[in-house]
Amino acid sequence: MEKRELVIIGAGPAGLTAAIYGKRSGLDVLILENGITGGQINLTDEIENWTGVIHASGAELADSFRRHAEHFKPEFRDVEVKSIALRDGRKIIGTGSGDIEAEAIIVATGARFKKLGAPGEAEFTGRGVSYCAVCDGAFFEDQEVAVIGGGNTAVEEAVYVTQFASKVTIVHRRDSFRAERVAIERAMSNPKIEVVWNSVVEEIAGEEMVEKVVLKNVRTGDITDLPVSGVFVFAGMDPNASFLNGMVKSVGGGWIVTNERMETSVEGIFAAGDVRDKYLRQVITAAGDGATAAMAAAAYISEQLHIQSVLLEPEQVTAFIFSSIEEPQARLAAEIEKIPASGASKVISLDGYKNRRMVEKLGIGDLPALVEFKKGRISRSEVVSDLDSARKFLS
Ligand SMILES: Cc1cc2nc3c(=O)[nH]c(=O)nc-3n(C[C@H](O)[C@H](O)[C@H](O)COP(=O)(O)OP(=O)(O)OC[C@H]3O[C@@H](n4cnc5c(N)ncnc54)[C@H](O)[C@@H]3O)c2cc1C
Repeated sequence: MEKRELVIIGAGPAGLTAAIYGKRSGLDVLILENGITGGQINLTDEIENWTGVIHASGAELADSFRRHAEHFKPEFRDVEVKSIALRDGRKIIGTGSGDIEAEAIIVATGARFKKLGAPGEAEFTGRGVSYCAVCDGAFFEDQEVAVIGGGNTAVEEAVYVTQFASKVTIVHRRDSFRAERVAIERAMSNPKIEVVWNSVVEEIAGEEMVEKVVLKNVRTGDITDLPVSGVFVFAGMDPNASFLNGMVKSVGGGWIVTNERMETSVEGIFAAGDVRDKYLRQVITAAGDGATAAMAAAAYISEQLHIQSVLLEPEQVTAFIFSSIEEPQARLAAEIEKIPASGASKVISLDGYKNRRMVEKLGIGDLPALVEFKKGRISRSEVVSDLDSARKFLS
């Protein structure tokens, strides 16, 4: 079976940034992508909130990300990931064209906006139809727009868009919002916001750009035209995470839960970008996640190799495992290193703070501890907090 160090699934801003950081950390990096390199931003005409670039089309930005990643020569492969499985502790990625074993995996598969499915919606996406107010709100300065939806996002984003638009009409299929009360009050007290209740979008129409939405009242069946230049659809988002089949912890329909190092609930599997459970889904946050995930993955891989070569392969070894953020422990580590080796046992110091997973994996509860390994197994361990008890353990 093919064996790789770091496999990144998804070549959007998160995956491409992870590839740059992964390659610069000296890793063998394989990126698996089944769509257009660059991800979702390929769908938008204008991006104005990527720091350092005042204005670019999504395709231009995606192209510059791809070229930047290519500069460091990761391997790109055009393939869809269908599954990830754990077999005897090994991480196996299932694709349409064979399995790949990875030391570490970064899931950067992004998310997709739920569509209304109305005629004209696909045709006018990027030409008046938007799924992101932060991204596109500013393009509708002094224009009238519609916001479709009735949840928190729709109601909050409608208020956000009033900074730019002259009028915002919220179209909701029910007769009350599902949003939080504070959000509803803020929207209803905004003079720029009107609401059309009990209505759904029948069509989005125009020539080059959106000119109107055709609405149908679900109670009366009446059809009306609402003239607008923009339509913001907030019918929700779905993460691209079904191939994980629930193997990592997720919330609310599959958003992957990570810690600040982008570690998922499964060791060696990281997640970055829109697929994560997070506050702001944007290019800049996806790129930041990708960088963090790659650095954490690099640390994880070197930790695995380190554990293997330093602790598990030697006939006998003793490790002083300490927390580097505790000053007395760090000082004790330096002193213990000076104790002359006795018998067959050699003492090495390991930072248990940086290698938290290793400490958990070895089942070591409290630090600092001296741990003796024989043929890869713990034969003795003891919490030691001073030089005398360390000497006693080592004698
Ligand atoms: C219309 C639109 C306009 C936007 N405008 C802006 C904006 O102005 N500013 C801004 O900051 N953000 C904007 N965004 C949001 C931004 O695009 C996302 O936040 C960002 O792309 C997330 O990056 P990502 O790498 O996490 O995921 P994505 O960009 O979604 O990339 C994920 C990649 O993974 C691939 N993939 C998914 N599943 C699989 C699989 N099973 N196997 C292999 N590959 C897979 C996908 O094909 C995709 O290329 C916009 C989004 C849209 C849709």
